[in-house]
Amino acid sequence: VVEIEGLKKSFGPLDVLKGIDLQVDRGQVVCIIGPSGSGKSTLLRCVNLLEEPTGGKITVLGTELTDPDVDIDKARTKIGMVFQGFNLFLHLNVLNNLTVAQRKVLKRSEKEADEVGRHNLERVGLSDKVGAMPAQLSGGQQQRVAIARALSMDPEVMLFDEPTSALDPELVGDVLGVMRQLADEGMTMLVVTHEMQFAREVADKVIFMDGGYIVEEGSPAEVIGNPQEERTREFLARVL
Ligand code: ATP
Ligand code: MG
Repeated sequence: VVEIEGLKKSFGPLDVLKGIDLQVDRGQVVCIIGPSGSGKSTLLRCVNLLEEPTGGKITVLGTELTDPDVDIDKARTKIGMVFQGFNLFLHLNVLNNLTVAQRKVLKRSEKEADEVGRHNLERVGLSDKVGAMPAQLSGGQQQRVAIARALSMDPEVMLFDEPTSALDPELVGDVLGVMRQLADEGMTMLVVTHEMQFAREVADKVIFMDGGYIVEEGSPAEVIGNPQEERTREFLARVL
């Protein structure tokens, strides 16, 4: 459902992505690992055109995003994204965080948006927080609300950019648990993470990026368990 061919992205003179080829099939979980500055976030941001590629081709769910005539807002509603920061609307309560885009973008009625929102809060285990304000929630709860908000748009692909790296260690597990459940339900997921245990257990494919290239890719057992490239081994030695 996601096809990336020869993707390049430069910021001025800085070449950040130097030719990325990547395919994600329906229901697959692909984890992207690699050192800081290797271009992981830039790659993810290109997949929903938060960054405009300098070259190459990206097709998501049959729509070529890099086609100049694409209806990007329409294509984007099928792609959910969760960032490191929680990015909730701080002045809206939890349920309204989940309903506002459904009503504005998908034109759902208030009743339908509420139902969908409540259903997704239940999926992330936060039914009791419908009326809470974001500031009253822990970081882990806020991140689960952010996931529920993305799910309320009925995405077919979910992008996660280090969703747990801003969390206190004891809150990480709940968020990873929700992501694991999503993976079990068959969601197509592209996940930038430093959580090697999660990548090992949940990923169908692991990508190691360095210097704007995919250096190594394969199953978790291959890339994390038995890396072939020196750069992958060095990286893993630092994070494991
Ligand atoms: P980290 O693990 O620290 O999140 P990353 O692999 O996600 O790193 P990116 O955020 O993709 O790395 O950044 C790759 C490079 O691109 C970095 O050198 C960064 O400074 C640069 N970069 C990213 N966004 C921009 C931007 N908007 N303008 C200029 N340079 C940028
Ligand atoms: Mg990043």
